[in-house]
Amino acid sequence: MEKILVSACLLGIRCRYDGRSVPNDKVIALSEKYSLIPVCPEIYGGLPTPRTPSERVKDRVVMRDGSDVTDNYMRGAVAAYELCRTLGIGLAVLKAKSPSCGKGKIYDGSFSGALVDGDGVCAEYLTRMGIRVLTENEIDELL
Ligand code: SF4
Repeated sequence: MEKILVSACLLGIRCRYDGRSVPNDKVIALSEKYSLIPVCPEIYGGLPTPRTPSERVKDRVVMRDGSDVTDNYMRGAVAAYELCRTLGIGLAVLKAKSPSCGKGKIYDGSFSGALVDGDGVCAEYLTRMGIRVLTENEIDELL
């Protein structure tokens, strides 16, 4: 069975900043055809749950209280890639809009809910390392 790296919150794991999950039926249905490997890059990077929300601001990631958590985000991205490399994973389905997992559009750093073009830190790193990244909104072709 082909393996897919998946944002753990999409599988119902309560790892979001607010201690909640966002289970996605389509993503969960992928388990009928693929072996799903859950990952939460923010937790892999050493952040707790729940945690203060963060957003990307240019090349940094900051919490709403101003704390710089860029290093945590990078550490989590590298760990997610290491998992892909070790397990031979070439495809990831990651949570849209997240400062870690988002692809194409992410929150703009103002903590207002506004979006801007860009990728989350993990999605960007995985893409650079040759992993194909899709959001949960782009997986019809896999079902
Ligand atoms: S870092 Fe990714 S997997 Fe973790 S809670 Fe945020 S969106 Fe979900």
